[in-house]
Amino acid sequence: RSVEFLDRQSRRESNARVYPRHLPIAVEEASGSFVRDVDGNVFIDFLAGAGVLSLGHNHPDLVRAVVDQLGRFSHGLDLPSPAKDAFTEVQLSMLPARLQDRMKIHFCGPTGANAVDAAIKLCKTATGRGDVISFQGGFHGTTHLGMAVTGLVANKAPVRNGVPGVHFFPFSNCGDCSLGLSRDTCATNCIGFLERALRDPNGGVALPAAVIVEMVQGEGGVVMADEDFVRRLRKLTWELGIPLVVDEVQTGCGRTGTWFAFEQYGIEPDVIVASKALSGIGQPVAIILFDERLDVWAPGAHTGTFRGNQLAFAAGAEAARVVERDDVLGNVRRRSEQVERRLSVLRRHRWVREVRGRGLMWGVELIDAPGSPPGEFAQRVQSRALRGGLIVELGGRDDVVVRLLPPLNVTAEVVDMACTILLDAIEECAP
Ligand code: PMP
Repeated sequence: RSVEFLDRQSRRESNARVYPRHLPIAVEEASGSFVRDVDGNVFIDFLAGAGVLSLGHNHPDLVRAVVDQLGRFSHGLDLPSPAKDAFTEVQLSMLPARLQDRMKIHFCGPTGANAVDAAIKLCKTATGRGDVISFQGGFHGTTHLGMAVTGLVANKAPVRNGVPGVHFFPFSNCGDCSLGLSRDTCATNCIGFLERALRDPNGGVALPAAVIVEMVQGEGGVVMADEDFVRRLRKLTWELGIPLVVDEVQTGCGRTGTWFAFEQYGIEPDVIVASKALSGIGQPVAIILFDERLDVWAPGAHTGTFRGNQLAFAAGAEAARVVERDDVLGNVRRRSEQVERRLSVLRRHRWVREVRGRGLMWGVELIDAPGSPPGEFAQRVQSRALRGGLIVELGGRDDVVVRLLPPLNVTAEVVDMACTILLDAIEECAP
Protein backbone atom coordinates (compact mmCIF):
# COMPACT_ATOMS: atom_id res chain seq x y z
CA ARG A 1 0.00 0.00 0.00
CA SER A 2 2.95 2.35 0.54
CA VAL A 3 3.60 2.01 -3.20
CA GLU A 4 0.04 3.16 -4.04
CA PHE A 5 0.36 6.24 -1.85
CA LEU A 6 3.79 7.02 -3.28
CA ASP A 7 2.52 6.63 -6.85
CA ARG A 8 -0.55 8.80 -6.31
CA GLN A 9 1.43 11.49 -4.57
CA SER A 10 4.15 11.47 -7.19
CA ARG A 11 1.53 12.22 -9.86
CA ARG A 12 0.06 15.13 -7.91
CA GLU A 13 2.94 16.61 -5.98
CA SER A 14 5.74 18.86 -7.15
CA ASN A 15 8.81 17.25 -8.60
CA ALA A 16 10.71 18.91 -5.74
CA ARG A 17 9.41 16.36 -3.21
CA VAL A 18 12.47 14.82 -1.62
CA TYR A 19 12.05 12.42 1.27
CA PRO A 20 9.77 9.98 -0.61
CA ARG A 21 12.55 9.44 -3.13
CA HIS A 22 15.05 8.03 -0.65
CA LEU A 23 12.69 6.91 2.07
CA PRO A 24 9.84 5.42 0.03
CA ILE A 25 7.27 4.75 2.73
CA ALA A 26 3.81 6.13 3.48
CA VAL A 27 3.38 6.69 7.20
CA GLU A 28 0.28 5.47 9.02
CA GLU A 29 1.22 6.32 12.59
CA ALA A 30 4.14 6.93 14.86
CA SER A 31 4.97 6.75 18.52
CA GLY A 32 8.13 7.67 20.43
CA SER A 33 11.14 6.63 18.35
CA PHE A 34 9.09 4.45 15.98
CA VAL A 35 7.15 4.98 12.77
CA ARG A 36 4.70 2.47 11.28
CA ASP A 37 3.99 2.55 7.57
CA VAL A 38 0.64 1.78 5.93
CA ASP A 39 1.74 -1.83 5.37
CA GLY A 40 2.44 -2.39 9.05
CA ASN A 41 6.26 -2.21 8.81
CA VAL A 42 7.85 -0.58 11.83
CA PHE A 43 10.95 1.63 11.55
CA ILE A 44 13.24 3.24 14.08
CA ASP A 45 13.06 6.94 13.29
CA PHE A 46 16.53 8.51 13.45
CA LEU A 47 15.39 11.44 11.35
CA ALA A 48 12.70 12.51 13.83
CA GLY A 49 11.03 15.02 11.54
CA ALA A 50 14.42 16.52 10.60
CA GLY A 51 15.32 17.07 14.24
CA VAL A 52 11.92 18.45 15.15
CA LEU A 53 10.59 15.65 17.36
CA SER A 54 12.97 16.08 20.26
CA LEU A 55 10.78 13.99 22.56
CA GLY A 56 9.78 11.53 19.86
CA HIS A 57 6.43 11.23 18.14
CA ASN A 58 3.29 12.02 20.13
CA HIS A 59 4.87 12.39 23.57
CA PRO A 60 1.84 11.89 25.86
CA ASP A 61 2.53 15.01 27.97
CA LEU A 62 2.81 17.17 24.85
CA VAL A 63 -0.31 15.64 23.31
CA ARG A 64 -2.16 16.52 26.50
CA ALA A 65 -0.84 20.08 26.42
CA VAL A 66 -1.85 20.51 22.76
CA VAL A 67 -5.32 19.03 23.18
CA ASP A 68 -5.95 21.10 26.28
CA GLN A 69 -4.88 24.28 24.49
CA LEU A 70 -6.91 23.39 21.40
CA GLY A 71 -10.00 23.38 23.61
CA ARG A 72 -9.23 26.98 24.61
CA PHE A 73 -8.01 28.64 21.39
CA SER A 74 -5.37 27.90 18.80
CA HIS A 75 -4.24 31.06 17.05
CA GLY A 76 -3.67 34.49 18.50
CA LEU A 77 -1.58 36.66 16.13
CA ASP A 78 0.90 38.36 18.46
CA LEU A 79 -1.52 39.11 21.25
CA PRO A 80 -0.43 37.99 24.71
CA SER A 81 -1.94 34.85 26.19
CA PRO A 82 -1.18 32.52 29.09
CA ALA A 83 0.31 29.93 26.69
CA LYS A 84 2.51 32.52 25.01
CA ASP A 85 3.52 33.95 28.37
CA ALA A 86 4.60 30.54 29.66
CA PHE A 87 6.46 29.76 26.42
CA THR A 88 8.29 33.11 26.47
CA GLU A 89 9.26 32.62 30.11
CA VAL A 90 10.60 29.15 29.41
CA GLN A 91 12.62 30.18 26.34
CA LEU A 92 14.27 33.10 28.14
CA SER A 93 14.97 30.95 31.20
CA MET A 94 16.83 28.45 29.00
CA LEU A 95 19.42 31.11 28.17
CA PRO A 96 22.66 31.22 30.16
CA ALA A 97 22.09 33.40 33.25
CA ARG A 98 24.11 36.35 31.92
CA LEU A 99 21.92 36.59 28.83
CA GLN A 100 18.56 36.22 30.52
CA ASP A 101 18.14 39.88 31.40
CA ARG A 102 19.78 41.14 28.24
CA MET A 103 17.82 39.27 25.62
CA LYS A 104 14.44 39.85 24.06
CA ILE A 105 12.32 37.53 21.99
CA HIS A 106 10.68 38.09 18.62
CA PHE A 107 8.15 35.63 17.25
CA CYS A 108 8.76 34.92 13.60
CA GLY A 109 6.64 32.68 11.71
CA PRO A 110 6.59 29.80 11.45
CA THR A 111 9.73 28.09 10.08
CA GLY A 112 13.46 28.21 10.69
CA ALA A 113 14.09 30.10 7.46
CA ASN A 114 11.58 32.75 8.47
CA ALA A 115 13.53 33.31 11.67
CA VAL A 116 16.82 33.47 9.76
CA ASP A 117 15.24 36.14 7.54
CA ALA A 118 14.11 38.06 10.62
CA ALA A 119 17.55 37.85 12.25
CA ILE A 120 19.36 39.24 9.21
CA LYS A 121 16.74 41.91 8.65
CA LEU A 122 17.00 43.02 12.28
CA CYS A 123 20.79 43.28 12.03
CA LYS A 124 20.50 45.26 8.81
CA THR A 125 18.07 47.66 10.46
CA ALA A 126 20.23 47.99 13.56
CA THR A 127 23.56 48.55 11.80
CA GLY A 128 22.36 50.39 8.70
CA ARG A 129 24.69 48.07 6.78
CA GLY A 130 23.71 45.69 4.01
CA ASP A 131 26.21 42.86 3.60
CA VAL A 132 26.18 39.51 5.35
CA ILE A 133 29.00 37.06 6.01
CA SER A 134 28.21 33.38 6.08
CA PHE A 135 30.21 30.15 5.89
CA GLN A 136 30.82 27.52 3.29
CA GLY A 137 28.80 24.40 4.03
CA GLY A 138 26.30 26.31 6.16
CA PHE A 139 22.56 25.83 5.75
CA HIS A 140 19.97 28.39 6.72
CA GLY A 141 16.79 27.59 4.80
CA THR A 142 15.11 27.73 1.42
CA THR A 143 13.44 31.14 1.38
CA HIS A 144 15.20 33.56 -0.91
CA LEU A 145 17.30 35.03 1.89
CA GLY A 146 17.77 31.72 3.70
CA MET A 147 19.05 30.27 0.46
CA ALA A 148 21.21 33.31 -0.23
CA VAL A 149 23.12 32.85 3.03
CA THR A 150 23.33 29.08 2.59
CA GLY A 151 26.84 27.97 1.69
CA LEU A 152 25.89 24.71 -0.01
CA VAL A 153 25.98 25.85 -3.58
CA ALA A 154 24.25 22.79 -5.02
CA ASN A 155 21.11 23.84 -3.12
CA LYS A 156 20.83 27.06 -5.07
CA ALA A 157 22.79 26.57 -8.26
CA PRO A 158 19.69 26.57 -10.50
CA VAL A 159 18.34 29.81 -9.00
CA ARG A 160 19.81 33.16 -9.86
CA ASN A 161 20.74 34.61 -6.50
CA GLY A 162 18.80 37.82 -6.11
CA VAL A 163 20.27 38.82 -2.74
CA PRO A 164 23.53 40.71 -3.24
CA GLY A 165 26.19 41.30 -0.65
CA VAL A 166 26.50 37.82 0.87
CA HIS A 167 30.11 36.77 1.31
CA PHE A 168 31.17 33.22 2.09
CA PHE A 169 34.21 32.32 4.12
CA PRO A 170 35.67 28.88 4.86
CA PHE A 171 34.32 27.08 7.92
CA SER A 172 36.63 25.36 10.41
CA ASN A 173 37.07 21.57 10.39
CA CYS A 174 35.26 21.36 7.08
CA GLY A 175 37.56 18.76 5.56
CA ASP A 176 37.14 20.46 2.19
CA CYS A 177 39.39 23.40 2.91
CA SER A 178 39.17 26.07 0.28
CA LEU A 179 42.62 27.18 1.48
CA GLY A 180 43.89 23.73 0.55
CA LEU A 181 44.67 22.58 4.10
CA SER A 182 43.97 19.16 5.56
CA ARG A 183 41.62 18.69 8.51
CA ASP A 184 44.59 18.12 10.86
CA THR A 185 46.24 21.39 10.05
CA CYS A 186 43.37 23.65 9.16
CA ALA A 187 41.59 24.22 12.46
CA THR A 188 41.90 27.97 12.67
CA ASN A 189 43.55 29.15 9.49
CA CYS A 190 40.14 30.05 8.16
CA ILE A 191 39.42 32.43 11.03
CA GLY A 192 42.77 34.10 10.37
CA PHE A 193 41.69 34.52 6.76
CA LEU A 194 38.42 36.18 7.82
CA GLU A 195 40.22 38.37 10.38
CA ARG A 196 42.61 39.67 7.77
CA ALA A 197 39.85 40.27 5.24
CA LEU A 198 37.74 42.26 7.70
CA ARG A 199 40.51 44.24 9.38
CA ASP A 200 42.30 45.18 6.18
CA PRO A 201 40.77 48.37 4.79
CA ASN A 202 41.72 47.07 1.35
CA GLY A 203 40.53 43.54 2.13
CA GLY A 204 37.70 43.81 -0.30
CA VAL A 205 35.03 43.06 2.29
CA ALA A 206 32.91 45.89 3.68
CA LEU A 207 31.82 45.71 7.31
CA PRO A 208 28.76 43.48 7.20
CA ALA A 209 25.42 43.85 8.99
CA ALA A 210 25.82 40.37 10.44
CA VAL A 211 27.83 37.19 10.52
CA ILE A 212 25.64 34.09 10.59
CA VAL A 213 27.07 30.76 11.72
CA GLU A 214 26.10 27.31 12.97
CA MET A 215 28.03 25.74 15.85
CA VAL A 216 27.53 22.36 14.18
CA GLN A 217 26.68 22.42 10.49
CA GLY A 218 23.84 19.92 10.26
CA GLU A 219 22.79 19.81 6.63
CA GLY A 220 26.44 20.51 5.83
CA GLY A 221 27.24 17.02 7.11
CA VAL A 222 27.61 17.29 10.90
CA VAL A 223 30.69 19.50 10.92
CA MET A 224 31.54 20.84 14.37
CA ALA A 225 33.02 24.30 14.52
CA ASP A 226 36.44 24.43 16.12
CA GLU A 227 36.45 26.05 19.58
CA ASP A 228 39.20 28.52 18.81
CA PHE A 229 37.48 29.43 15.54
CA VAL A 230 34.27 30.30 17.36
CA ARG A 231 36.00 32.25 20.16
CA ARG A 232 38.03 34.29 17.71
CA LEU A 233 34.96 34.87 15.55
CA ARG A 234 33.12 36.21 18.60
CA LYS A 235 36.06 38.44 19.55
CA LEU A 236 36.46 39.75 16.02
CA THR A 237 32.77 40.53 15.49
CA TRP A 238 32.57 42.12 18.92
CA GLU A 239 35.55 44.38 18.27
CA LEU A 240 34.25 45.42 14.87
CA GLY A 241 30.66 45.92 16.05
CA ILE A 242 29.21 43.19 13.85
CA PRO A 243 26.21 41.35 15.31
CA LEU A 244 26.91 37.61 15.54
CA VAL A 245 23.89 35.51 14.61
CA VAL A 246 24.09 31.91 15.81
CA ASP A 247 21.70 29.64 13.93
CA GLU A 248 20.52 27.09 16.49
CA VAL A 249 17.58 25.89 14.39
CA GLN A 250 19.00 22.37 14.30
CA THR A 251 21.42 22.39 17.24
CA GLY A 252 19.06 24.07 19.70
CA CYS A 253 16.68 22.63 22.32
CA GLY A 254 19.23 20.17 23.69
CA ARG A 255 20.29 18.41 20.47
CA THR A 256 24.01 18.71 21.25
CA GLY A 257 23.75 18.03 25.01
CA THR A 258 23.27 21.60 26.21
CA TRP A 259 20.10 23.59 25.51
CA PHE A 260 22.03 25.69 22.99
CA ALA A 261 25.21 24.49 21.28
CA PHE A 262 26.94 27.88 21.69
CA GLU A 263 27.06 27.30 25.47
CA GLN A 264 29.79 24.71 24.87
CA TYR A 265 31.95 27.36 23.22
CA GLY A 266 31.74 29.87 26.07
CA ILE A 267 30.49 32.64 23.78
CA GLU A 268 27.52 35.00 23.90
CA PRO A 269 25.80 35.58 20.55
CA ASP A 270 23.97 38.81 19.71
CA VAL A 271 21.15 36.95 18.00
CA ILE A 272 20.04 33.33 18.40
CA VAL A 273 17.78 31.71 15.82
CA ALA A 274 15.64 28.78 17.00
CA SER A 275 12.81 26.74 15.55
CA LYS A 276 12.57 23.00 14.74
CA ALA A 277 12.32 21.36 18.19
CA LEU A 278 10.90 24.35 20.07
CA SER A 279 7.44 22.77 20.40
CA GLY A 280 8.84 19.23 20.69
CA ILE A 281 5.93 17.82 18.73
CA GLY A 282 6.20 19.41 15.31
CA GLN A 283 3.87 22.34 15.86
CA PRO A 284 5.61 25.04 13.85
CA VAL A 285 7.12 27.96 15.71
CA ALA A 286 10.26 30.02 15.17
CA ILE A 287 11.86 32.73 17.26
CA ILE A 288 14.86 34.94 17.47
CA LEU A 289 16.38 35.84 20.82
CA PHE A 290 18.48 38.97 20.59
CA ASP A 291 20.43 41.46 22.63
CA GLU A 292 18.21 44.35 23.66
CA ARG A 293 20.67 46.77 22.02
CA LEU A 294 19.26 45.45 18.75
CA ASP A 295 15.65 46.17 19.69
CA VAL A 296 15.39 48.82 16.99
CA TRP A 297 12.38 47.77 14.95
CA ALA A 298 9.45 50.15 14.81
CA PRO A 299 6.08 48.65 15.77
CA GLY A 300 4.89 46.46 12.91
CA ALA A 301 8.32 46.35 11.26
CA HIS A 302 8.26 42.56 11.11
CA THR A 303 4.81 41.03 11.15
CA GLY A 304 3.49 37.73 9.81
CA THR A 305 0.14 36.00 10.23
CA PHE A 306 1.31 32.77 11.80
CA ARG A 307 3.15 34.11 14.80
CA GLY A 308 0.65 33.05 17.39
CA ASN A 309 0.50 29.26 17.32
CA GLN A 310 -0.89 28.60 20.78
CA LEU A 311 -0.58 24.83 20.30
CA ALA A 312 3.15 25.24 19.71
CA PHE A 313 3.44 27.52 22.73
CA ALA A 314 1.59 25.09 25.02
CA ALA A 315 3.59 22.11 23.75
CA GLY A 316 6.88 24.03 23.89
CA ALA A 317 6.46 25.08 27.51
CA GLU A 318 5.58 21.49 28.40
CA ALA A 319 8.49 20.13 26.33
CA ALA A 320 10.98 22.22 28.29
CA ARG A 321 9.44 20.97 31.56
CA VAL A 322 9.74 17.36 30.37
CA VAL A 323 13.36 17.92 29.33
CA GLU A 324 14.15 19.07 32.85
CA ARG A 325 11.95 16.56 34.71
CA ASP A 326 13.28 13.55 32.80
CA ASP A 327 16.89 14.75 32.63
CA VAL A 328 16.73 14.53 28.85
CA LEU A 329 20.03 16.38 28.46
CA GLY A 330 21.67 13.72 30.64
CA ASN A 331 20.18 11.11 28.31
CA VAL A 332 21.57 12.96 25.29
CA ARG A 333 25.06 12.81 26.78
CA ARG A 334 24.79 9.13 27.74
CA ARG A 335 23.31 8.06 24.41
CA SER A 336 25.91 10.15 22.64
CA GLU A 337 28.69 8.18 24.34
CA GLN A 338 26.89 5.00 23.39
CA VAL A 339 26.67 6.00 19.71
CA GLU A 340 30.35 6.93 19.78
CA ARG A 341 31.25 3.56 21.32
CA ARG A 342 29.13 1.57 18.88
CA LEU A 343 30.24 3.44 15.76
CA SER A 344 33.93 3.74 16.68
CA VAL A 345 34.70 0.49 14.80
CA LEU A 346 33.93 2.44 11.64
CA ARG A 347 36.93 4.68 12.27
CA ARG A 348 39.14 1.89 10.98
CA HIS A 349 36.86 1.11 8.04
CA ARG A 350 38.46 1.45 4.61
CA TRP A 351 35.38 3.18 3.16
CA VAL A 352 34.63 5.52 6.07
CA ARG A 353 36.32 8.92 6.08
CA GLU A 354 35.14 10.06 9.47
CA VAL A 355 32.68 9.41 12.28
CA ARG A 356 31.82 12.59 14.15
CA GLY A 357 29.13 14.05 16.30
CA ARG A 358 28.06 15.88 19.37
CA GLY A 359 25.11 15.05 21.57
CA LEU A 360 22.57 13.28 19.41
CA MET A 361 23.72 14.73 16.14
CA TRP A 362 26.02 12.24 14.42
CA GLY A 363 27.45 11.80 10.97
CA VAL A 364 29.30 8.99 9.24
CA GLU A 365 31.15 10.33 6.23
CA LEU A 366 31.53 7.62 3.60
CA ILE A 367 34.03 7.28 0.78
CA ASP A 368 32.74 6.38 -2.66
CA ALA A 369 34.51 3.76 -4.72
CA PRO A 370 36.71 5.29 -7.39
CA GLY A 371 34.70 5.92 -10.53
CA SER A 372 31.27 5.63 -8.94
CA PRO A 373 29.01 8.69 -8.74
CA PRO A 374 29.54 10.76 -5.57
CA GLY A 375 27.09 9.87 -2.83
CA GLU A 376 26.16 6.49 -4.29
CA PHE A 377 27.51 4.50 -1.36
CA ALA A 378 25.64 6.66 1.16
CA GLN A 379 22.43 6.30 -0.80
CA ARG A 380 22.75 2.55 -0.82
CA VAL A 381 23.40 2.56 2.92
CA GLN A 382 20.30 4.69 3.47
CA SER A 383 18.13 2.30 1.43
CA ARG A 384 19.61 -0.78 3.06
CA ALA A 385 19.12 0.75 6.55
CA LEU A 386 15.47 1.43 5.68
CA ARG A 387 14.99 -2.17 4.61
CA GLY A 388 16.57 -3.17 7.92
CA GLY A 389 14.10 -0.96 9.78
CA LEU A 390 15.99 2.29 10.34
CA ILE A 391 15.26 5.75 8.94
CA VAL A 392 18.36 7.92 8.50
CA GLU A 393 19.06 11.09 6.55
CA LEU A 394 22.00 12.08 4.36
CA GLY A 395 23.84 15.37 4.24
CA GLY A 396 27.08 17.14 3.47
CA ARG A 397 28.77 17.78 0.18
CA ASP A 398 27.43 15.29 -2.40
CA ASP A 399 25.28 13.78 0.37
CA VAL A 400 28.10 11.47 1.43
CA VAL A 401 27.37 11.75 5.16
CA VAL A 402 24.86 9.43 6.83
CA ARG A 403 23.26 11.49 9.58
CA LEU A 404 21.65 10.41 12.82
CA LEU A 405 19.14 12.73 14.50
CA PRO A 406 17.19 10.54 16.93
CA PRO A 407 14.68 11.82 19.47
CA LEU A 408 16.57 13.12 22.50
CA ASN A 409 14.78 10.74 24.86
CA VAL A 410 15.69 7.68 22.79
CA THR A 411 16.46 4.62 24.93
CA ALA A 412 19.75 2.71 25.10
CA GLU A 413 18.03 -0.32 23.62
CA VAL A 414 16.81 1.57 20.55
CA VAL A 415 20.21 3.19 20.04
CA ASP A 416 21.76 -0.27 20.12
CA MET A 417 19.31 -1.64 17.55
CA ALA A 418 19.80 1.36 15.28
CA CYS A 419 23.60 1.16 15.43
CA THR A 420 23.50 -2.54 14.60
CA ILE A 421 21.30 -1.89 11.55
CA LEU A 422 23.57 0.94 10.39
CA LEU A 423 26.78 -1.05 10.87
CA ASP A 424 25.29 -3.99 8.96
CA ALA A 425 24.13 -1.67 6.18
CA ILE A 426 27.59 -0.13 5.80
CA GLU A 427 29.23 -3.56 5.83
CA GLU A 428 26.87 -4.92 3.19
CA CYS A 429 26.96 -1.89 0.89
CA ALA A 430 30.70 -1.16 1.11
CA PRO A 431 32.27 -1.06 -2.35
N1 PMP B 1 18.88 26.67 9.77
C1 PMP B 1 19.35 25.44 10.01
C2 PMP B 1 20.64 25.28 10.74
C3 PMP B 1 18.64 24.31 9.59
O1 PMP B 1 19.13 23.08 9.80
C4 PMP B 1 17.41 24.50 8.91
C5 PMP B 1 16.57 23.32 8.45
N2 PMP B 1 17.21 22.15 8.18
C6 PMP B 1 16.96 25.81 8.68
C7 PMP B 1 17.71 26.86 9.14
C8 PMP B 1 15.68 26.07 7.95
O2 PMP B 1 14.58 25.72 8.72
P1 PMP B 1 13.17 25.46 8.03
O3 PMP B 1 13.32 24.27 7.15
O4 PMP B 1 12.22 25.22 9.17
O5 PMP B 1 12.83 26.70 7.28
